[in-house]
Parts: sequence; C-alpha cells; structure tokens
Amino acid sequence: MTVPIRNHDIAELKRLDLAHHLPAQTDYKLQQTLGGSRIITRADGVYIHDGEGHQILDGMAGLWCVNVGYGRQELAQAAYDQMLELPYYNTFFKTASPPPIRLAAKIAEKMGGHLTHVFFNSSGSEANDTVFRLARHYWKLKGQPQRTVFISRWNAYHGSTVAGVSLGGMKYMHEQGDLPIPGVEHVMQPYSFNEGFGEDPAAFCARAVKAIEDRIVAVGPENVAAFIGEPVQGAGGVIIPPDGYWPAVEALCRKYGILLVCDEVICGYGRLGQWFGHQHYGIKPDMIAMAKGLSSGYLPISAVGVADFIVDELKDKGGDFVHGFTYSGHPTCCAVALKNIEIMEREGLVERTRQDTGPYLAKALATLNDLPLVGETRSLGLIGAVEIVREKGTNLRFLDKEGEAGPVVRDICIRNGLMVRAIRDSLVCCPPLIITHAEIDALVAILR
Ligand code: PLP
Repeated sequence: MTVPIRNHDIAELKRLDLAHHLPAQTDYKLQQTLGGSRIITRADGVYIHDGEGHQILDGMAGLWCVNVGYGRQELAQAAYDQMLELPYYNTFFKTASPPPIRLAAKIAEKMGGHLTHVFFNSSGSEANDTVFRLARHYWKLKGQPQRTVFISRWNAYHGSTVAGVSLGGMKYMHEQGDLPIPGVEHVMQPYSFNEGFGEDPAAFCARAVKAIEDRIVAVGPENVAAFIGEPVQGAGGVIIPPDGYWPAVEALCRKYGILLVCDEVICGYGRLGQWFGHQHYGIKPDMIAMAKGLSSGYLPISAVGVADFIVDELKDKGGDFVHGFTYSGHPTCCAVALKNIEIMEREGLVERTRQDTGPYLAKALATLNDLPLVGETRSLGLIGAVEIVREKGTNLRFLDKEGEAGPVVRDICIRNGLMVRAIRDSLVCCPPLIITHAEIDALVAILR
C-alpha cells in the first residue's frame, strides 16, 4: 500500500509553531529568529522529507531511535490490530494484558542469562527513574538503606526528568533547576580524544577506572547503590571507551558489592552490533535501561531489564514496589515493539551491523582523516563521530577560540541533504540499521 503524500501549508504551520508550540530542547529566542522549526512531513527508508520539499538522509535515525527505518507498514498494522482488540489497559495492581507479557519474555530471551525480568515505562528518562527507585528499594530490602549514592560520568545523558538529569552529567542541564539531586556523584568520562590525548590507551583506561574507584572510596563503598553508564556514551559525543574499561568497571562493582547499571537506551537493539551494548563488552550488568530502538521510535516505550537476584529479593520480602506509570506495559506500544523485534530478527539487522555495515561505516569515516579539519574519526557498529580540530595533529578546537565549529558544519550538512548532530566540536551519526553501503557512501560524501 502506498501512502498518499499530503500537502501541508508550511507557512501556516510555521506561524502556528511560533504562536503556540514549545519544541523540546530548544532556544525559543532562536526559534523566533529562524521563523519557526524545521518541519519534517514524511519519511521513508533512511530518508526524511521536510516541508520545503528537501529529501534529507537521516544520519541520526530520528533521535538515535529509528533502527528499522521509516515506512514500515507491518508496524502500523501491528498498532492497528492491537488498537482494535485492546488499545489500552494498565499493568497496575496485579493486572496485565497479553502484549507486555509476551514482550517481557522476548526481551528476557534477548538479554540472556541472569537478566530475567522486565519493567515497562514510556521513555528512556522514565526507565532511568525506575532504575533509580528500584536500586534504592532493593538496598532497603537488603537491610542496607544507606546505600543510596549513584556514581555516573560527566557528559552522560540519562534523560530529562529530575532523576534523569541528575544521573546525567550535562552541566548545562544541571544549571537549570538546581540539579543534580543529592546522592549522585560524577566522575570523568573515558573520552580519550579529549582527556587522554596522546596518552597510552592502557594508561588512560587505568586512570579512568581509578577515578571511579577513588570516588567509591571517598563516598564510602557501603553508601554506594550503583554505578550507571551508557556502554558507549551517545549524547556525550559518541564516547567509545578504551578496551578493558567496562570489564574493569564491572570488577570494581563486584569488589565493592555495587550494582552495575547499563543505560542501553541508544546502545540497545543492535546499535553496537549486539542486541545490547554490554554484550559487546562481555559484561553482566545487574539492570539495564532500554527505549528508542525497542520500538524503533514508532511508539513510545521503554523498559528496565532486571537481574534475577534483585527480583528474588522483591519476591522474597514482598510489599508493593510503589512505582509505575499509566502507560507501563501499554498494549499497543508493546505490540509494536514485538513486531519491531521480529523485523530485526527476520532481516538479521544485528548481525548485519556487526559483520557488514558497522565495519563499512568505520572504513568510510576513516577516509575523512585526510581532511585538515578532521582530528579523529571513530565508530562502533552504526554509531560514529568525527572530531573537528583547529590544528591537524592536535585536539585543539575552534570552541577554544572562535566558537563551536560543529554546529556550523552540521548546518552545511543539512543544507546538502544530510542530518547529523553536532556535539560541541564533533559531528555524530547514528543512522537506521537498514542503511546500505551506497547510503553510507552518500553520508560520508556529504560529510566530506
Ligand atoms: N538514556 C540515554 C542514553 C539517552 O540517549 C536518552 C535520550 O536520548 C535517554 C536516556 C532519555 O530517553 P527519553 O528521551 O526517551 O526520555
């Protein structure tokens, strides 16, 4: 079935946008200056189309989420069928419907091993709120109520709710609203291009891990509930940690009896070439947060995967976990997520990312290294970054001196038909997992 292309009155939409709409994470003064938001009207495969008739290669999969690409009729059909049968019912007070139960079992299969249970929410932020509350609840049940502190990294992104911003390490977000809330400690991120430039990778890795251990000791290990981190930091700039970092962090958590939490909101669902990012690093977190690729963004849904020993404690001690949302286990969202996973399995998107398109993207990005502006390219699976430098062979940035170059280059890319994101002086990409070699070539050609 072909979907008819609707004509939108873009001038009218821009007028209404300015008059009534507050888009997320936006400078409203700039929104006025620009005459309204960029309006995306439709999408297909790896391409989005704006209201002015431009076709743009979506190098960001929306907001790091449209893993199976746009225009999947099967997902629309799954939503349609479920809406007619049971559009909504809640999972409060010992109630459920078939889709969340089936989806929980499917996710448990993908997580494998000791991560056996799943708690549903609607957004990545809510998933991390759930992690926050569940970890503290667990330690109370265990008779260690003083274990409340979370250790996280600078530039981590864990969401936009009060707990999400607090767990996250974005200083500019902390500044609005007097955050973080008490009980969150931030340590250095394993960003070798910035913080370990020219340093031996093993020495840098040891230094980044020691920063965590030093903080655990300073806080008092008996007070620490959990360490939380994205396997690869996304919004922090696509920070791929050095080899050995995650196993060493896991060992620290085990040494001090601290819960290890992976925020898989971006890294989950094939992004790093495994179902979950932690599987790439061979570690066993005690909880994982997931969202985005779980439904490829077609409907809002997130989840927390929980280890059996935590669930055993809840089951053993009893008492309500007094946490949950109206849309926890939303049947339609769960039905779409189930279909999304089925598509990923059928098309082998995880394996393809690991064995084919991921390595292809790495090679293609590396061809940019001859450019005088490029300081480093890096990627893992289908997430990557290009560092822009002021002087080749250094990590000196334009932002040190003349403002950020990243947004300037990003705007040039968009004008040339490529959506990428600027994070300070780097450009990052995270395309749909269906991207082909030819589309990767086009992405890199526009970047060049
Ligand atoms: N965690 C990570 C790693 C993210 O990248 C994001 C969003 O980009 C979130 C959490 C928050 O997810 P949401 O925007 O769905 O609340």
